[in-house]
Amino acid sequence: MTKTKKLINAPEDIIPQLIAGMVAAHPDMLTVEGPTGRAVVAVDGPRDGKVGVVVGGGSGHEPAFAGYVGRGLADAAAVGNIFASPSPEQILDAARAADGGAGVLLLYGNYTGDVMNFTMAAEELAAAGTPVRQVQVADDVASAPVERRGERRGIAGDFFVFKVAGAAADLGEPLARVEALARKANDATLSMGVALGACSLPQTGKPNFEIGDDEMEIGMGLHGEPGIRRDKLAPADQVTDTLMEAILSEMAPAQGDRVAVLVNGLGSTSLVELYILFARLKQVLDARGIAIHRSWVGEYATSLEMAGASITLMRLDDELAALLDHPCRTPALTVGTVEGAAAGSARSARKAAGSAEGPARATPAVALIREGAITPALFRAMMQRAGDEIIAARDWLSELDGVIGDGDHGITMEIGWKAVQGALENAPGDETIEGCCKRMAKAFLDAVGASSGPLYATAFLRAGAAVSDRLNLDAGALAAWLAAALQGVRDRGRAEPGDKTMIDAWVPAVARAQEAVATGAELAVIEAARDGAEAGMKATADLEARRGRSAKLGARSKGHIDPGAASTWVILRAMATALAGAQAAA
Ligand code: ADP
Ligand code: MG
Repeated sequence: MTKTKKLINAPEDIIPQLIAGMVAAHPDMLTVEGPTGRAVVAVDGPRDGKVGVVVGGGSGHEPAFAGYVGRGLADAAAVGNIFASPSPEQILDAARAADGGAGVLLLYGNYTGDVMNFTMAAEELAAAGTPVRQVQVADDVASAPVERRGERRGIAGDFFVFKVAGAAADLGEPLARVEALARKANDATLSMGVALGACSLPQTGKPNFEIGDDEMEIGMGLHGEPGIRRDKLAPADQVTDTLMEAILSEMAPAQGDRVAVLVNGLGSTSLVELYILFARLKQVLDARGIAIHRSWVGEYATSLEMAGASITLMRLDDELAALLDHPCRTPALTVGTVEGAAAGSARSARKAAGSAEGPARATPAVALIREGAITPALFRAMMQRAGDEIIAARDWLSELDGVIGDGDHGITMEIGWKAVQGALENAPGDETIEGCCKRMAKAFLDAVGASSGPLYATAFLRAGAAVSDRLNLDAGALAAWLAAALQGVRDRGRAEPGDKTMIDAWVPAVARAQEAVATGAELAVIEAARDGAEAGMKATADLEARRGRSAKLGARSKGHIDPGAASTWVILRAMATALAGAQAAA
């Protein structure tokens, strides 16, 4: 498979350099605030007494999301890694910058990873006394039937929902009202896309799905998630009719109704093609007597260099139409004229809320239980080994995720485990296993975002807490560590066994580890966990996904291993290998 050529520098510099470029190109509109460097803030957006509108999501969708930051639209955007949710710390930087004392509205696409990360940020904001609401954009008709609208993913419909909320906030509406209007816009907005060619993550350069030269995927998601069916490539008019039929049959606009229209290119589809789609779309609407109030044609929510397009319609009433027409000025969208906002009108009273507690301090180890072969130093070595094996498995994990998800799992895990390895290297030599686990959780969460960030970070935190009374781990404590990790994943993600997630590797791993405690020592426990995870991982191939990104696939997810279950197995396998190696050397 040939690699896609890309104009990048070092892979780890992609996001900082993307942000630097956007801000440098639009210095009159954008700035960066906060220690993470991932909050792009409107120069003249946030103001005292105004609801702060925060948007965000993974990178790779440019101009979304930071391109919608500016006067009259979003006050700040949290910028995640490519196709991965921003982390709670990054979202908090954006929210603190946007907070003018009237509360903050968080707006983002409905993806498991974003929901978990934004919810963790919202919990922290609320705890610090900032009123906060969230709205998840869910406009993609192809991603779930209308009865399960709440499960739909967000695609280009973000554009309309952000615009409406930004206008309402700019007009001085209170938080509950801005939220209600964002929900109203979300309910009125439906989209559907088609993909002709794949995109590739810059770190791997490999196309994240395969599609024949003569094929198209109807209903494709914004990260290359499979759509509802694959057809032979058809003429533009026929494709437009298919997408419009799906949208209009659900929207059911009456003759005389007004809509706003967005024909969005996914990254490598020419404007020639997009205008051809628009020409047909106009005929379809004319034939039904539906008027176009405003329309946009271009790249507004892309998927890196994916080929294809999406159509979004928002059904308007006078209120939504007025909010769409309200002036805004951002890099990606300008409407009307924004009267020069006095620079001095910015915020004065923003709460500079203290950030979460730093890395755990080493706890004095005196009163701790010493039985067990796994010392803190050996535990750290086991975790370093887990990082090495995850990094070695990167491409395999990303390939698995490319088939049923968005193709980032290997890269996400590599980023997270490199951060974990760095954090462990900086740990004081006498840090307890609980302290190490806290340090790992913070490093992983801050570096990763995505779904796996909150899931694995919560697992590490809970696992560490379960052994807080121990200096060393014996067989029983190791099993307790594993069981608490599983419980952390369950509490954070709320998936059940059989939903085709990493839970399906953790459950048999913990069950077999607990059995092994009766007869075996530490090594027997971790080897049992490893084998349980492997069996559970393999069994995910027979399951239909019901959680996370791949749940949208339904039966089409069958036959493929779940990437999170695979990374769980790799971690447990590495822990077993490291422990066996250390014991053999001793
Ligand atoms: P994203 O889906 O945000 O791109 P990753 O690709 O890093 O995140 O991770 C995907 C994996 O996360 C899935 O393979 C699955 O194992 C796991 N996952 C997703 N949602 C859940 C959930 N609710 N509970 C447990 N695991 C989940
Ligand atoms: Mg993924």
